[in-house]
Amino acid sequence: MSAFDSILGQERAVRTLRTALSHPHHAYLFVGPSGVGKETAARAFALALNCERQVGCLDQEGACPECLAIHHGNHPDVRVCAPSEGKRVFSVEDVRKLVQEAGWKSHRGKWKVYIISTDLLNVQGANTLLKTIEEPVPGTVILLLGPAVAAVLPTMVSRCQIVPFGPVARPLIEAELCRRGVAEERSRELGALADGRLGWALTESQQEAAPPPRLIALATVTDRLAEAERLSALDPDAQQRAVESLMVQVRDIIIWAETRRDDLVSRPDLAEIMGAGLPRDYWLRILSRIETHRRQLLGHANAKLAWTVLAGDLAPRAREAERISH
Ligand SMILES: [Zn+2]
Repeated sequence: MSAFDSILGQERAVRTLRTALSHPHHAYLFVGPSGVGKETAARAFALALNCERQVGCLDQEGACPECLAIHHGNHPDVRVCAPSEGKRVFSVEDVRKLVQEAGWKSHRGKWKVYIISTDLLNVQGANTLLKTIEEPVPGTVILLLGPAVAAVLPTMVSRCQIVPFGPVARPLIEAELCRRGVAEERSRELGALADGRLGWALTESQQEAAPPPRLIALATVTDRLAEAERLSALDPDAQQRAVESLMVQVRDIIIWAETRRDDLVSRPDLAEIMGAGLPRDYWLRILSRIETHRRQLLGHANAKLAWTVLAGDLAPRAREAERISH
């Protein structure tokens, strides 16, 4: 098994990197949202470049000494670069040191690989690093990881080979979560929320699952108000997760009503109950209402008031159904 096999849903990027193994470019820019596998791919590339078998041994038992050292983070030629202690971004001094090191010969005779997140580079840092990328040092490969080409200095972009990473397909994320023992329903929910960010879904699956918000599912006003109060007391991050979860519920209702396919929605039970009788337009309006609510919370609106009003706005299920039937 090769280290590249652990990267899910990025066939194009993996093909580019596999092909590059025999003659790697001196600098790459991996671009894509966080959590889609850029760092895993960077490590796999570093492994494969230095591996005695040219694959990047994943199997710990039978791994070659080079791969073992990289696995344990003590290979002198492969570095996942971090700012000096206590700093949020690289100082110019950090980058100077890095540039100097990149000029030395490799310790173990193969490739020196530096993995650097562009989010940690300010303009001065990036300009300092630019020299190394402009005048490549033989035997050194710089892997820059960034969210988007637009977020990186153009002078830097033009000197790197760009490797794009897209969002990971939802079924792949769900299957991977299931494979790791996450319950099927939870896998579907996380797959829907992840927006292609497998890494996010994996981290999230380790957290204890919060009960799903029930503003849409509850039937009586009293129950909905109690639920609104419960949600408004959560910490701000949990409130945002609850909002996202509500949006997924509504999206599911719309999708189910159109397709009647249980496999496309995270909670078929809910979709079936709620989708009955109400038109798509109604649910689209609800979706945009929830989006407004999300922004209100981010703008530090009074959470209790915001949730209570939302509970009222999500409530007119019976009323709306009545209106439609007349
Ligand atoms: Zn190896």
